[in-house]
Amino acid sequence: MRRNMVAGNWKMHGSLAANQALLSALIAAPEPACDVVVCVPFPYLAQAGQLLAGHAIGLGAQDCSMHEQGAYTGEVSVGMLREFSCSHVIVGHSERRAYHAEGDALVAAKAQRALSAGITPIVCLGETLEQRERGQTEAVVGMQLDAILHLLGSRMHELVLAYEPVWAIGTGRTATPEQAQDVHAFIRQRALRHHVSAEQTRLLYGGSVKPDNAAELFAQPDIDGGLIGGASLKAVDFLAIVDAAK
Ligand code: PGA
Repeated sequence: MRRNMVAGNWKMHGSLAANQALLSALIAAPEPACDVVVCVPFPYLAQAGQLLAGHAIGLGAQDCSMHEQGAYTGEVSVGMLREFSCSHVIVGHSERRAYHAEGDALVAAKAQRALSAGITPIVCLGETLEQRERGQTEAVVGMQLDAILHLLGSRMHELVLAYEPVWAIGTGRTATPEQAQDVHAFIRQRALRHHVSAEQTRLLYGGSVKPDNAAELFAQPDIDGGLIGGASLKAVDFLAIVDAAK
């Protein structure tokens, strides 16, 4: 049995005042029936960690360095994330892949580094619209996945994968539950061929998940929750999505 999970990805949004209001509303809600994590910008980790302490909501970051420490200006290590009680870190988000040229091997190395610090990586995979239209979805997602399997194949139960079709992120155009399930099943089967531990891997769907489409997506057999961008910034929307994942 895989426990559902809902992770909020705040991206580059927030302020001390807005975070305080949002997190206060989240912790005032009844205890969630699934795992819930909020992935906040680095400067707000301390604030969010303090507000969430003692509550059933985990804290995550949105990226980490593949290095342990050293002369890497602007980067943040998993050791630093640990000091701020991060339980999770997103790696390989399509915005990192697109705007920072992060490739599959780097993403896998980051995931491995996170695991070495006891932090669960949420590894993002997904094809662009052009790739989908050319019929390359499985080839692209398969290659992204293989880099992870190659490094971490026997530890698949320790990480979370998020399938996020790039064309659905922030566009309001959600994959249909069938489209999402098809790719999730493909990911599960490919990972299972590599190692039996993939039966335990949580596979989240991300890309324009909203309160009105969440339940149908999460009802699919290989969808174990969601990675939520825009809708994670509004407490009522995020809480409704969390509720849909119970
Ligand atoms: P969205 O973003 O929910 O705003 O589409 C999802 C993501 O990028 O993780």
